[in-house]
Formats: sequence, C-alpha cells, structure tokens
Amino acid sequence: MAETGVPPGLNPRDQRSGEQRTPLTAPGRPGGPLWYGLAFLIAMALVQAWVLTPAGRQISYSEFKAAVRGGQVAEVVVGEQTIRGSYSSAIDGTRTFSTARIDDPRLIEELDGAGVRYTGEFMNRWLPEVIGWVIPLLLLFALWNFFLKRMGGADGGIMSFARSKHKVFSEDDVTVSFSDVAGVDEAEGELKEIVEFLKTPAKYTALGGRIPKGVLLVGPPGTGKTLLARAVAGEAKVPFFSMSGSEFVEMFVGVGAARVRDLFAKAEQKAPCIIFIDELDALGRARAQGPMGSHEEREQTLNQLLSEMDGFDSRKAVIIMAATNRPEVLDPALLRPGRFDRQVLVDKPDVKGREAVLRIHSKHVTLSPDVNLTIVAARTAGFAGADLANLVNEAALLAARHDKATVEMSDFEEAIDRLVAGLKKKRVMSQKEREIVAYHESGHAIVATMTPGMDPVHKLSIVQRGFGALGYTMQVPLEDRYLLQRQDLLNQLAVLLGGRTAEEIALGEISTGAQNDLMRATDIARSMVTEWGMSDLLGAISYDTSKRNKFLDLPGGPERGVYAEDTARLIDAEVKRLMTDAHAEAHRILSSHRDMLESVTRRLLEVEVMDGAELRKLLDGARAVQEHDEVAPASPSPGVQ
Ligand code: ADP
Ligand code: MG
Ligand code: ZN
Repeated sequence: MAETGVPPGLNPRDQRSGEQRTPLTAPGRPGGPLWYGLAFLIAMALVQAWVLTPAGRQISYSEFKAAVRGGQVAEVVVGEQTIRGSYSSAIDGTRTFSTARIDDPRLIEELDGAGVRYTGEFMNRWLPEVIGWVIPLLLLFALWNFFLKRMGGADGGIMSFARSKHKVFSEDDVTVSFSDVAGVDEAEGELKEIVEFLKTPAKYTALGGRIPKGVLLVGPPGTGKTLLARAVAGEAKVPFFSMSGSEFVEMFVGVGAARVRDLFAKAEQKAPCIIFIDELDALGRARAQGPMGSHEEREQTLNQLLSEMDGFDSRKAVIIMAATNRPEVLDPALLRPGRFDRQVLVDKPDVKGREAVLRIHSKHVTLSPDVNLTIVAARTAGFAGADLANLVNEAALLAARHDKATVEMSDFEEAIDRLVAGLKKKRVMSQKEREIVAYHESGHAIVATMTPGMDPVHKLSIVQRGFGALGYTMQVPLEDRYLLQRQDLLNQLAVLLGGRTAEEIALGEISTGAQNDLMRATDIARSMVTEWGMSDLLGAISYDTSKRNKFLDLPGGPERGVYAEDTARLIDAEVKRLMTDAHAEAHRILSSHRDMLESVTRRLLEVEVMDGAELRKLLDGARAVQEHDEVAPASPSPGVQ
C-alpha cells in the first residue's frame, strides 16, 4: 500500500487555524493535508474491506472440502488467496461462500470428481494494482487540484488559470466623454486625434498611414488618467477593455502571459476598440533588476505584451492605452516606436482647470449662492482632479451633517482645511506645546508678511490636525507660478525657517516641530544649487541628472548626479550657506519685530485660527514704523550660526 502524505508532527492547533488562512498562504500549510491524509486512510481501509473481504458465508477449508465431497458445491472461483463459490442450493439463506485457500494439490482432482465447475481468477492480477497505486494517485491529484484552487482564489481552479479574470469584459458603451474631464486640456487635445483614428480608421489607412498603437498616459495619481482613457472610448463609441497591470502578475509563471494573449485575442474580435492597461508599472518594470534575480513571471508577461503589441495588425484599429505615475521605472522596450511611443502628460490642473473640475463635480450638488468656486480653486493649489472631486463630496457631507439645505462656502472652507491638514484631532495639546506651536506659526506668518513679494498669508492655525501637523500657516498664491526667481526662492527659504527661528528667539529652545520645514527648505536649497544653477560658486551647471528624467524621458541614468567628491563637498557647503543665510534673514526680521511676534502669538493662542486680514491689521503698525528695514535684500548676507 502506498504511504499517505501526512507530514509527521503536525499539532492539531495548526489544523484549525490553517483552515481559516487566506488562500495565498495555503500551500505547504498544515490542516488541509492532514484532513486529506485521514480521509485517504479511511478510504483505503474501506476499499480494502470491500474488495478483499470475500462475500457470502465464510467457511473453513475443511468445511469447503466436505461440501465438495457432499456434492453441495455447484461452482468455484479459485483465486490466489481465496476460493469463492456457490452452493447448488442455499444454506443458511445464502448461496455463496468463501474460504481461505490452502495449498492443496489434490483440489482440482476432487473438484473434477465432484463435477464442480471451476475457474481461475484474473482479477487478482490487476485489482491490487488499482488499489495499490492508481487510487492513491487519483487522491493525490485531487489533493493537488484542491490546493491549486485555493491558491487561485475563489474563482480560479486549475482549469481557469489561463483564462483572464472576470475583469476582462468589454464595456461596449462607455458613457464618459471629454466633457466630464477638465483641467487637462493639452492631454485632451492629443487624445482627440486618437478618437478620430478610432472613429474613421479607413480615412487614415487609405493613405498608407499607420494608426498609432500605444498611448501612454503619464502623470501623478488622481489626475484623471483612467477617466481620460474611458472618455476616449466614450467619444469614439468603441468597446473598452480595461485591466490593471497588477492583474497580469500572478503566482504562476505563464498565467499572466496567457491573460495578455487572451485579452488581445478578445480585443481583436471587437476592433475598433481600446485596450487599457492601468498601472502599467506593475508589470512593465524594467527587466532583470533587484538582488534576488529577475521576477520570472512578470518578465514573461511583459515579453508577451511586447510581442502582442508587435504582432498586432496596425490596420485593425485597436489602440492600446496605458497609464502610469512612475514612467521612470518602465522597461525601455515598452517605450520604443511601435509600442507606447505616444506619451501624453496628464498633469495637475492649474487654477482655471481646478475651477472647471470643481464645476463638473458640483453639477449635482445644491450650492448656496455664496459659494465662489473661483476662490475655492485659488485655495486648492496642488490638488489633483480626484482631490477636488473628494473636496466637493466632503463639503456636501459636511453641509448635510449640519442639516443645511444647500452647501455653503463655509462647508467648502472646512472641507479644504480637512483635506489640507487631515482631520481635526480630539487630543488636546498641553499649554506648553500650544505655545511652541503658536510661536512657530507666528514666525512663519510674520516672515511671510514682512518679506516683499511673498504670497499673502491666508490663514494661520494652531488647531491640531491629523498626524504630524500641529498647526499650519497657509499662503495663497495670487496666481499660478511657472517660474520662480532666485529671490523668490531665498524668501521662501526664510519663511520656511521662520517657524523654527521664532521658537529659538522667543523660547531660547528649538523643538522637533520644524522637521518638515527643514526638509522642504533643504530640498529647495539643494535644487537651487544642483538643478537651477543658482549658486555663484558652482556656476550654471546641472549636477543632478536623476531628477530631470522623472517625466517622459527614458528611464536610466545614475541615481545621483555624476560629479567629483570635491564637487559634492562644495555642493553641501553651498546648500549649508543658503540655509544659514535664510536663517539669518528670518532671524533679522523676527528680532526686529520681536513685539509683533509676541502679540501675534498671544492672539493666536486666544483664537486658535486667525485669517490673513486680522494678521495684517495686527502687523500694520509695526510695518509702518520699520518700513526702511524691508528694503534690504535677503541675500547675500553674512552667515550667522
Ligand atoms: P488617475 O487614474 O489619474 O489616478 P482617475 O482617473 O482614477 O485618476 O481619477 C479619479 C476620479 O477623480 C475620477 O473618477 C474623477 O471623478 C476625478 N477626476 C480626476 N481627474 C479629473 C479631471 N481632470 N476632471 C474631472 N474629474 C477628475
Ligand atoms: Mg487610475
Ligand atoms: Zn513650520
């Protein structure tokens, strides 16, 4: 008999928890195998009992011989170990009997003499084999199948691996159109061309042109890449096949590749249509990297995708669109001509774009007349489309919570505050902490207000929100800026260091609260030196080649710029000098407005949230007196440690 596959030494506790584990951890886990082993043993025992235990009356060999001599036996089957047979008339209610065979050379003679019909048995040749290994094999197969099923998730058994998950369905009439997308006009413009291709492919191919195959949408998360892809399908009125890059990467080598084949085969039947691969970076990461060797499955899937894209008949009008927010990690092979050679940048919207996005999303929201979306747009610099959609929703929820009939401007204000700095926290800060934060924020606000050319302070707050943000000072740009001059950046550095410097001046001590300020300031200073050529000492040379490649350029290039050790030292020194100068500037402004720092801080501790108008009223007196101080430029000034 075959051994069962029960691993030794499993404790029963493991069995139970093993049953509840998620499918991914199933292979090799105890629990399943043990139960199966037990079931297998029992099944074997039953089979054995059924097949090997002879039927009918069990009699001794002597009884059998006596019956033969007495002429009671009609027929026997002589097996290797047993003799089974039937009586000519029933004895004890049964006609059949069996007995264990004894080596008896005269048996045949006696059977002949008694006129009993006898046959040998073939059964014994193959039945034990069936029991011995065919059945265990079947059971093992069942066991294996069971695990594959568990690993494949609820819908995937061994037979369905190759098939794409249920997600590969074509959406035949997408209702999204370009009017649902705003703030990404450039991308929209480029995609309109694709729509034309899809609508009338013949027009383009008739002249021998090649319809573009791949369009890669590149941009930060939430900017509407997925939305745009669907809008293209909706505008062109073609079927839309969408799948996420991560869905192609499975545990088993070859499965992802099979899915790619499947996807393309299905799409080809429905041409003209769009195949959309979301989050392409999940599968299109550059091959053969990482210390553990290559990721074979992903590599195979990627190869399959590349060859499908190559093999595709370009007259078929199937456009492959993909989206990623990490183009720099993509395999260069994906970006070659004939593949994703068209790249469309989907960027965060500017102030007009934000307003348009807000309008789209507040279409179905009852707005009060006091809501000014232009102001909301101005206050949400840096928000992506998805953030703005979220903002409108949040404002509507807030209004509903306050039982209002319409969504008011104050709801938007509160929603912005929430989204910007996280949700209000219940925990109260100690008096000491509040004081530190108040000085810190006043410092930022005063430096920002006293520095000419800075964006006006919109609001400062010491209401603790979310993780990490104990307070904030918010400046609202009057316009979106595309260019910053050196002086703007130096001023920004001073404002960023203003918080920490205020703590230093007022309390003679610094806290951990300035970590984020320092990080941002250092980033700016480093970029000034290495990227923007703003250091006289190092000259107008870009030392940073890694950052430049972030968007659209081919991936590759060193992690950090290539320069000599000495240059690195020089860069560090220059960054340090910029930071020191900025600190000196903040120090100069704050110590010459020491009384103002006190009064703003006191007021802030009282009201917790102060808007820009009130701040400026508080500061107005001091500014009039000290006007002549402000003319001095912030840099270059001697370093102060
Ligand atoms: P991405 O794919 O770039 O991460 P999505 O397309 O998934 O972003 O955007 C998520 C949601 O945010 C969209 O369904 C839409 O409601 C909203 N949204 C994002 N960008 C825009 C935009 N430019 N115009 C209108 N709505 C947008
Ligand atoms: Mg997306
Ligand atoms: Zn700060």
